Amino acid sequence: MTQESPELQFETLVSLCKRRGFVFPSSEIYGGIAGFWDYGPLGVEMKNNIKRAWWRAMVQERDDVVGIDASIIMNPRVWQASGHVDVFTDPMIDCKNCKHRFRADHIDSDVCPDCGAQGQFTEVRPFNLMFKTFVGPVEESAAQVYLRPETAQAMFINFENVVTSMRRKLPFGIAQIGRSFRNEITPGNFIFRDREFEQMEMEFFCKPGSDEEWHAHWIQKRFNWFKGLGIREENLRIRPHDAKELSHYSKATSDIEYRFEAMGWSELEGIANRTDFDLKQHAAYSGKSLSYFDEETNEHIVPYVIEPALGVDRTFLVLLYDAYREEEVKGEKRVYLQLHPSVAPIQVAVLPLSRNEKLTPLAREVYGRLRPHFMTQFDDAQSIGRRYRRQDEIGTPLCVTVDFDSLEDAAVTIRERDSMEQSRMRIEELVAILREKLDS
Ligand code: ATP
Repeated sequence: MTQESPELQFETLVSLCKRRGFVFPSSEIYGGIAGFWDYGPLGVEMKNNIKRAWWRAMVQERDDVVGIDASIIMNPRVWQASGHVDVFTDPMIDCKNCKHRFRADHIDSDVCPDCGAQGQFTEVRPFNLMFKTFVGPVEESAAQVYLRPETAQAMFINFENVVTSMRRKLPFGIAQIGRSFRNEITPGNFIFRDREFEQMEMEFFCKPGSDEEWHAHWIQKRFNWFKGLGIREENLRIRPHDAKELSHYSKATSDIEYRFEAMGWSELEGIANRTDFDLKQHAAYSGKSLSYFDEETNEHIVPYVIEPALGVDRTFLVLLYDAYREEEVKGEKRVYLQLHPSVAPIQVAVLPLSRNEKLTPLAREVYGRLRPHFMTQFDDAQSIGRRYRRQDEIGTPLCVTVDFDSLEDAAVTIRERDSMEQSRMRIEELVAILREKLDS
């Protein structure tokens, strides 16, 4: 019977991810560095699949959204205009006893969660989360710049460029995927909160007055996107922010949250109504007019902006967490990842029944046929049972086994990850059949 791992802890995933080449701690041989992670050979495949799925849904399948890829370091005035220099802070407290540092809004008593000391916290101080560095050879304040803490600002400062070069009319969006950096006080929960991470953000510019409708539209679209990737609906919810939670730029924000057994409901994506705040701020700071000429009314207007913003790494974690399954098969524990085929790092594994000189050439031929169509892995090491388990554990939806009968009947066995059912298919028809199974 399948147990849906009611108490799946992050340690289980951390260990699976390391063992199977999804995610490694950064700089591990030097003792690591908190808040930074490296994606291994399978991790990078899955991450690219997530980004591709988002880009397809948000840009390629829409005719009202275009993409950009902007620089990480921008003129520091960008961050003054956006408010990040002044208010991109988290409240910080230190424990005087163990010297550990915490986010004050994550602590709900006067007892230190690390050493248990009572009443030993310092006053709460604001801590700016932006990483600073220098441009050019002189380390002086005039040369100080920031690593971007979000990708969004690049869309605002390129608003005019995109409108003009692409002849865009409202409503339209600008999307971007890229690295962001936040000097988080307490990174953790595996890749949930990192200091370097990737974001997928889209700024959707619309006429003031139509903003609430578009906000509702994007909340629903984004919720459905997660469902389409196979995340179980009971683990997803939409939570509107209350007034005191709202960011300085936001009129309304709803988060899409995921229910981790290990830490409860947590933000996966935020969908904010940023109003005309950013374009107005950048117009004021740059002296350039960032308005839009509305041909219907013959007026210059400043568009409102709806922003769906999520992290690639957080999506990766949620997909793994939600897909993790343990069950008992013939007295042995079987672990498998019920990943959606569109994000699974390997879609098809080709496994000769054994490493045999008669089987290998045919298995290699089958592998060669499948590779142009699917992310395919060839594996002939160890027993077939162990190889199935390995593919289960990395979430490969389908295995194709080449056996001695294949030499006679030009057919192979397809084994399905979730049901472990096996069926015999002709090699000639394999690509079409696998495609159908992966798409269904
Ligand atoms: P939190 O409240 O968790 O600090 P936030 O509300 O500041 O997050 P946003 O600024 O709205 O986050 O960023 C949009 C998305 O980017 C988040 O929903 C999340 O998926 C991702 N994200 C933000 N910070 C991090 C981080 N430190 N590590 C990984 N992903 C992050």
